[in-house]
Amino acid sequence: MGQRARRPRDARLVGEPLVTDTDQMVTWLRAAMDAAKHRAEEAAADTGSANWEYQPSGILDAMEPAGFMVATGSQDFLEPERGQFMAANDPAAVLRRIAADRQLLDDLIAEQHNVVEDPAYTCPAATTERDGGRNYHPGPCNCARDERVHRRVRLLAEGYGWTEEER
Ligand SMILES: [Zn+2]
Repeated sequence: MGQRARRPRDARLVGEPLVTDTDQMVTWLRAAMDAAKHRAEEAAADTGSANWEYQPSGILDAMEPAGFMVATGSQDFLEPERGQFMAANDPAAVLRRIAADRQLLDDLIAEQHNVVEDPAYTCPAATTERDGGRNYHPGPCNCARDERVHRRVRLLAEGYGWTEEER
């Protein structure tokens, strides 16, 4: 983003408050996480367990309770590489990642704008409630917090299939 781009690139007013690209992406990401969680829970429910394990006999089994066959390959044998990969991405693993990603997202968007002792040098986007310090001239972020958060949220969202077409 160039030096002149002080206003968030695609910010637009939808009534109040300002809804930014980042906000839209966060909304999309939370919905994508909900959908992914739902799919993982359904897979766990269908197989009786969130924990799957590759068996040397060539099948992928649900564990706890054990015994439900989740998958097998052609000729009733699942190659170890494929089976171990599937086990490493079982519903339990997916749910762990989603839970961690939700916390990461919360951390990312909680990042504060730059606040310094002299309000004249505090980021114009800072608010007392949110960032713990007032500024003299409210306006768009000039401390790079918004760009940083946008970039990181986008990277997280890309892991869930976000593309520019999602906007
Ligand atoms: Zn800022």
